[in-house]
Amino acid sequence: MAESPPLVPVPDGLTGFFWEAAGRQELAVQRCSACGTFQHPPEPVCHSCLSFDLGGAAVSGRGTVYSYEMATQAFHPSFADRMPLCIAVVELDDQPGLKLLTNIVDLPADGVAVGDPVEVCFRRLSDEITLPVFRVARA
Ligand SMILES: [Zn+2]
Repeated sequence: MAESPPLVPVPDGLTGFFWEAAGRQELAVQRCSACGTFQHPPEPVCHSCLSFDLGGAAVSGRGTVYSYEMATQAFHPSFADRMPLCIAVVELDDQPGLKLLTNIVDLPADGVAVGDPVEVCFRRLSDEITLPVFRVARA
């Protein structure tokens, strides 16, 4: 069977800042210059005030587990060596309701639970792409 190429994100005009920040090991999300609201994923217009004046802004990288799922079967061959994979929604501490779809890595032996505090860390996927992921924050 032919080997499948790895699945990696392709930055574009809306998401480029996010991937550039991740490459510097920083977590950035879109922030409205008019009203200061963070939003994610990036979109052309602010959901709060309808401004088009949006840019990337660094956030704390801390949050809590809002929801998660343990995937045990790879849905693409390039994920086979990452199973089981914790796919999670993390709510960032920077603004209520600001959520990020991500992975939780380096799981503790007793797993993860909704409400657990997490912190960002980074996984290099290719020369161009570094992926922000999260791990359970130590007390
Ligand atoms: Zn706004």
